[in-house]
Amino acid sequence: MHIDILTLFPEMFDGPLTESILKRAQENELLTIRRHNIRDYTTGKHHTVDDTPYGGGGGMVMMAEPLVTAVEGVRGDDPQVPVILLTPQGRTLTQKVVQELAAYPRLILVCGRYEGVDERVRQSVITDEISIGDYVLTGGELAAMVIVDAVARLIPGVLGARWGAEEDSHAMGLLEYPHYTRPPVFREQAVPDALLSGDHGGIERWRRREAIRRTWQRRPDMLLTANLSEDERWFLADLAEADAPPPG
Ligand code: SAM
Repeated sequence: MHIDILTLFPEMFDGPLTESILKRAQENELLTIRRHNIRDYTTGKHHTVDDTPYGGGGGMVMMAEPLVTAVEGVRGDDPQVPVILLTPQGRTLTQKVVQELAAYPRLILVCGRYEGVDERVRQSVITDEISIGDYVLTGGELAAMVIVDAVARLIPGVLGARWGAEEDSHAMGLLEYPHYTRPPVFREQAVPDALLSGDHGGIERWRRREAIRRTWQRRPDMLLTANLSEDERWFLADLAEADAPPPG
């Protein structure tokens, strides 16, 4: 996969892109990332990228010309590539959206700053708008990093053979089961017997049930669409009954 990031602050990406899994993914040529400074697409002597808003009010607005020129220059002859504006007004990023993005061979991420971008940028070149949550950041860079990180770990080969993303929270419509590692007892808290049994079927059943329990406790809304077997539905009904207030 190839990701182009359009930003006024390319150096902000130095840390996240040059460490750990994202670093390895690039070294192994599973992922290429190019950062483009929007300022390089300005024409004026002062390389201005922002201006005051029509109608007054505080803050500055990112001008249409440098941004649209930058997107057109980077996109080249590839009209199919999604051009995604990071904005708190976009559709919310979920694992489902991440899976959708990971299926593309190429993405362009556009980071806003200040009060945001001139509306005509949206109208001219943006094909999708994504928010990473209902809060406002100072710029789109952190949001772009979140997308790059979440998408990269779904690219085949990036996580390595022993570490699949299939069972992660949200990937299967459930939160993931609890994890344990050595020692078997820590401050009188023992690892559940099922995990020490060596019985793979039993471990798998325990994990599914604990994933359901955790989802019931923390995100019951997710269970409305989770894909559960009949046996698991009975397990869930038992959980619900145990939590129900006493009659009367
Ligand atoms: N005035 C804008 C509004 O109310 O919609 C917010 C602008 S924000 C201060 C500056 C930039 O940060 C935005 O253009 C966007 O690129 C980015 N940003 C802020 N919050 C974000 C979020 N929740 N998700 C994605 N990008 C965000």
